[in-house]
Amino acid sequence: MLKGRCPDCANAQQVQTNATRTDDARYQTSAWHRFSKWLRGLNPVCQHIDTESGEQCHAPSRMVHHIKPVDKYPNLMYVAENCVCLCFKHHSPELTTGNFAPTVIKLGLLPSYSKQAAHSQ
Ligand SMILES: [Zn+2]
Ligand SMILES: [Zn+2]
Repeated sequence: MLKGRCPDCANAQQVQTNATRTDDARYQTSAWHRFSKWLRGLNPVCQHIDTESGEQCHAPSRMVHHIKPVDKYPNLMYVAENCVCLCFKHHSPELTTGNFAPTVIKLGLLPSYSKQAAHSQ
């Protein structure tokens, strides 16, 4: 297990073969699944931007990656501004350091638990 990475990143390989599950209990709650589905609904295309071509990835987003890792910033887990939606290919410890397209966030549609987290910032 890689330390200092978000569990999504550390488990990127497992995630690829095991749908959206990771070993981390924080990612196995219905609240997280709802948040992840909601955010990927707003950001259906992988937000990774190629540093050389400047072009955004065209693959569908498959998972939510935390820009600031939730191990260090647990209160940012449900803060959409800390999240980007990525495809499997771009959600790996080596490739998640690039640029990302801005995350689409419709505040009016934030689920209540997420709104609460955002307001505690
Ligand atoms: Zn990640
Ligand atoms: Zn991608």
